[in-house]
Amino acid sequence: MKCLLAMLLLLLPAASFAQSSEELAEQDLRLARIADAMLVGNAKLCRQTMPVTGIILHSADQYGDGAQALFAGGPLAIAEVVSGSAADQAGLRAGDTIAAINGTPVSHLSPQGEDHLRELAFFLLADTIENEPIALTVVRDDEVLMTNFSAPNGCRSLVEILVADGPKALSDGRVIQLQYDFATSLTDEQMAVVLAHELAHTVLEHRRRKEALGIDNGSIMRHLGRNQQVNRRAEVEADRLSAHLLANAGYDPMLVPQFWQSPEGIRAGGGSMPSFVYPSQSARAEIVEREIAMFLPSRRGPSWPGHLLELRDRSLAAD
Ligand SMILES: [Zn+2]
Repeated sequence: MKCLLAMLLLLLPAASFAQSSEELAEQDLRLARIADAMLVGNAKLCRQTMPVTGIILHSADQYGDGAQALFAGGPLAIAEVVSGSAADQAGLRAGDTIAAINGTPVSHLSPQGEDHLRELAFFLLADTIENEPIALTVVRDDEVLMTNFSAPNGCRSLVEILVADGPKALSDGRVIQLQYDFATSLTDEQMAVVLAHELAHTVLEHRRRKEALGIDNGSIMRHLGRNQQVNRRAEVEADRLSAHLLANAGYDPMLVPQFWQSPEGIRAGGGSMPSFVYPSQSARAEIVEREIAMFLPSRRGPSWPGHLLELRDRSLAAD
């Protein structure tokens, strides 16, 4: 997994780094603010949850040599704190070095494969026992601070901005990623629609349900035969649920059909090329309009879409 800042540090001369890291921080914070509200607003719909802290972590192993000065206090630090979040209220700040999470010293964490220390720390934090306070030991200006704070429960997912070629947005059950250039092209409401679609894949446990059928999403075979039908069924389920996820986060669910017919939505859905996986953009919009008319006539949360949640325990294969 390559984070944007790491890429920028490799690619950009030092002079433009400050400006670029500010732009990244802005997108990171905007995504976190929108995502955190959605994760918390839909906590009851998710079988896997975590405390939603408002902390954006970063670690030295994400970056090239140019950024090591950021980590003088240790290899894991707070990159940003969402204002008004649980971490903000607990007094945590961007730049704080994290020395221990719930009693586990950060020095005991050893990332494997493509993971960075940041992801390991994120999931350790996510593993905090429900309704227990989070205990963080941080270092700020050579001073050790012990903080204990509670954070609201939300759906369990790392949500992040990514720079790399490939899909504009994706959800693999653990992580939801939005490509940087795509994120900057979206309004807050459009970003919420994209996020709701990706979170719907997580809530509906599509990765597990596809794996149960032996379907590999990375393969070209996803466009063919039974795989195509299964993937299309998953996309329709995600589009329908996304309307409920938006309503539970305080948005008008009609944003979904509006988005899929907008230029940004058409770009996100694969451009003007016909897709073998997705229904057409207008069909996607109609499916969601029908969902809203039947199950969300007030266009407001709270919504309990039991008819969609029960699909988690069914196969994605044709009946
Ligand atoms: Zn999808």
